[in-house]
Amino acid sequence: MSKTMAQLTYHYGVKVRIFPSTEQKRLIKRNSDASRFIYNEMNGMNRELFMLRQVKIPITIVQQRIQTLEQRLKNPSTEISNVHGWLNSPYLDSLMKANAIKNYRYAWKLFRKVHRSGIPVFHKKRTEQKYQTSCMYAGKLPNPNMTNGSVRLLDRCHIQLPKLGVLRFKGMPVKLLNRQNNVRIGTTTISMDATGRYYVSMQLASDQAFATELSGNMNGSVGIDLNTDNFLTDSDGNVVANPRYYRSIKGKLAKAQRKLSRRALRAKKQRRPLRDAKNYQKQRAIVASIQRKVANRRNNFLHNVSTALIKNHDLVVTEELRSKNMLRNHALAMSIADVGWRTLLGMLAYKANLYNRQFVTINPRNTTQTCSQCGYLMQGNEKLTLADRKWTCPQCGTYHIRDWNAAKNILVKGLASA
Ligand SMILES: [Zn+2]
Repeated sequence: MSKTMAQLTYHYGVKVRIFPSTEQKRLIKRNSDASRFIYNEMNGMNRELFMLRQVKIPITIVQQRIQTLEQRLKNPSTEISNVHGWLNSPYLDSLMKANAIKNYRYAWKLFRKVHRSGIPVFHKKRTEQKYQTSCMYAGKLPNPNMTNGSVRLLDRCHIQLPKLGVLRFKGMPVKLLNRQNNVRIGTTTISMDATGRYYVSMQLASDQAFATELSGNMNGSVGIDLNTDNFLTDSDGNVVANPRYYRSIKGKLAKAQRKLSRRALRAKKQRRPLRDAKNYQKQRAIVASIQRKVANRRNNFLHNVSTALIKNHDLVVTEELRSKNMLRNHALAMSIADVGWRTLLGMLAYKANLYNRQFVTINPRNTTQTCSQCGYLMQGNEKLTLADRKWTCPQCGTYHIRDWNAAKNILVKGLASA
């Protein structure tokens, strides 16, 4: 018996550019539309169910409708296809449907965890396209790998995808191409971004590490304080400043976006649908390409920071980001989204796995208000406010830089739980 994705030790994700033909582009759009449709259907049913359950008086017709909806949500794949026959089209990937349903259920669960009431939002029709499929392997295959599943590499620049057929790709790391025989493919996402580029991303798993273990004796451990003043401060007192790329490009982006909305307005006045307004579409492509540039720079920055942290330490500790609190405080949620802490934590987690390091998150309670020298906890009026960047401990008299002190406490907490 070969191992499943979850049973394999090492995981890795890879995203490569693909070059579909006109016909393949049409198929990608169809599958992406269907995937969004299924997600929204599920959401519609859950939304109705949610409303109906608020009706406290037992009305027969309401009870019957609740039963029907519950029945449909139990077996959505068949039930939605029965109501909407076009979903049975042979051009649609059946695993795309399964993944759309799975993704909706996951979003629903996550949403219910954070919000006590309410339902995820509908997915709007956008210029981007996206759907997921899964790589399947024949039952008794002795060695499932990158060359023998339903998603498979045919050579070093061609990939076979379900329903789409053969596509040229580029950008796969040579290391991966050289070891196609011991890597298994899992969930596979096919997407088109707002600038019209196509990509395929694959979850990979293997018994062997994806990166060679780093040599050298790394006994260092480090605590990281994430704050809004700078990007991060570590327990050795090093500060990484907030990246500037966004500030410098913000003006350019705002200008391009204003031009875009002027063009939308003009098209509206002339009663032309946006999809046929050439000037509007040209400007939309420009806005999208600026946004892609910002995203790329942000990703590079986060990759550099996370790689440096993981390569130089065998234990990295950060505070956990708690979505519940973050969503309550909108301004904070916005700034966190902006600097990309969530993405950074994700990168730290997978790079720790990749390089065989330890990454731990801890509850940030009291990490700011405790003196890292003597353990004194600031009380009542003494409590530091956001404006207090520097302070002196009233018990032992140590002078502290707020974020550095917090990073030291984070490290101590992490060492205790690691
Ligand atoms: Zn103290």
